[in-house]
Amino acid sequence: MTPRLVLRRCVSCRQLIDRDQLWRVVRLAGGGGIQLDRGQGRSAYVCADANCLEDARRRKRLQRALRAQVADSILESLESRLNGTASASSEAR
Ligand SMILES: [Zn+2]
Repeated sequence: MTPRLVLRRCVSCRQLIDRDQLWRVVRLAGGGGIQLDRGQGRSAYVCADANCLEDARRRKRLQRALRAQVADSILESLESRLNGTASASSEAR
């Protein structure tokens, strides 16, 4: 009966959004580095949206939220999700 809606705040636009609609960036506990989507550790969230992603990159919002360096490759892989192909449909194939 409990609604499974979990709200998280986007680091760029500061809106509270359903976690399923956000990208999660995780700083792994124990110094394991930065990872997308899953893992135990401190998390930051950003909308699956070009403006929010660009803002996060330019203003280093993920770095601040996680208090860690975020490699360009992390941001690039999020960008490729935006540009490429809906990731959901590629997974369904
Ligand atoms: Zn946002």
